[in-house]
Amino acid sequence: MNHNNSNQLFSRAQASIPGGVNSPVRAFKSVGGTPIFIKKAKGAYLYDEDGNSYIDYINSWGPMILGHAYQPVIDAIKEKVEGSTSFGAPTELEIEMAELIKSMAPNMDMVRMVSSGTEACMSAIRLARGYTSRNKFIKFEGCYHGHADAFLVKAGSGVATFNIQTVPGVPANVSDDTLTAPYNDIEAVKKLVVEHKDEIAAIIIEPVAGNMGCIIPQEGFHQAIRQICNKEGIVLIFDEVMTGFRLAAGGAQQRLGVDADLVTYGKVIGGGMPVGAFGGKKEIMQLIAPLGNVYQAGTLSGNPIAMIAGYTLLKTLKDNPSIFESIDKKTELLHIGLEEAFSKSKIPFVINRLGSMISIHFSEKPVVDFASAAAANNALFNKFFHFMLDGGIYLPPSAFETWFISDALTDEDIQKTINRAREFVMSQQ
Ligand SMILES: *Cc1c(COP(=O)(O)O)cnc(C)c1O
Repeated sequence: MNHNNSNQLFSRAQASIPGGVNSPVRAFKSVGGTPIFIKKAKGAYLYDEDGNSYIDYINSWGPMILGHAYQPVIDAIKEKVEGSTSFGAPTELEIEMAELIKSMAPNMDMVRMVSSGTEACMSAIRLARGYTSRNKFIKFEGCYHGHADAFLVKAGSGVATFNIQTVPGVPANVSDDTLTAPYNDIEAVKKLVVEHKDEIAAIIIEPVAGNMGCIIPQEGFHQAIRQICNKEGIVLIFDEVMTGFRLAAGGAQQRLGVDADLVTYGKVIGGGMPVGAFGGKKEIMQLIAPLGNVYQAGTLSGNPIAMIAGYTLLKTLKDNPSIFESIDKKTELLHIGLEEAFSKSKIPFVINRLGSMISIHFSEKPVVDFASAAAANNALFNKFFHFMLDGGIYLPPSAFETWFISDALTDEDIQKTINRAREFVMSQQ
């Protein structure tokens, strides 16, 4: 596969953009090699600047749940854009978007739109702190909640990929209020809650974690957290930036049957445009300005083009619940095929899957938290990544990321992916 144009573009990019990219994981730094520059995409396929095509398992890190350039979204954007790209004043479309989100997600009395998942999570923490008049919060090792200061403690995604232990620029007096526990370790949570009695504003969690590969919550884990929050007056925040509108119309809350107090969204909610949202119980949400004094704002929040893209995608998901069955089935097919391919080798592996989130770790032990994900053979993952890429299969360029399956994938695409994985297995014998 020829990457001459991508190589040239990467050299040029590095002169003007730090690391040549506008978000770190894109740089291929941990897997090695040069990032592929994308020209366009349609359905399940990415096309690069050298004319190569790839079956896409990133899907813009989730939003492209129905594939790239999904026609109804494109048409809706085209129509809307004629009426200007931004007003900075309220629109009816924002009400329709809020009503649609409420109709899909449980425990959603009120919702505020923002422009990224980072903004959604940092605003939700501020709100939980304002609501409880407490400062500390608990997050889980390997979970990623965006790049706001307080979250960059034992964070997943790029922070884990690049093995960044402490982030210069985050003052200790900010990160001191961030308490961490291993994922799936309820005893560690209980211990923190005892040690910091009446000091903890919130517990924030990825209900199914996707930023250390895919990590599945163990039976009863979320229920136990819910009980602790009820007992201690702690706000439970589900970070559904990945899981929202993906694991079900009502996200992980619906899929796992657990009620959160606040929920954050991103990724799918914008249909590929920069959108995030946070929402939840009225009792808490009414503290947000201008109703209350917890200040939160955004010049481009509720932007009409972003709203119509997100609205069109969410409405399609709501009106066609069979989509969720369809993407789950496709992911299962991929799971079974990969399982079979790797079973024929001596390579130890673990495939974690829930709904349309899936990842593989080359590990002998079950992968249930960050420590077990980090202990896996990630050098082998990097080899696997490049082998797949050379075969036209675009996986996330890090073992610390889940893969996202889109409904545009055909059985043939999945079969091609499995065949390539088989070839990888053979190449390793
Ligand atoms: C991607 C992600 C974020 C951050 O969203 P951005 O839009 O990149 O700011 C937050 N939480 C989770 C779980 C994510 O996966």
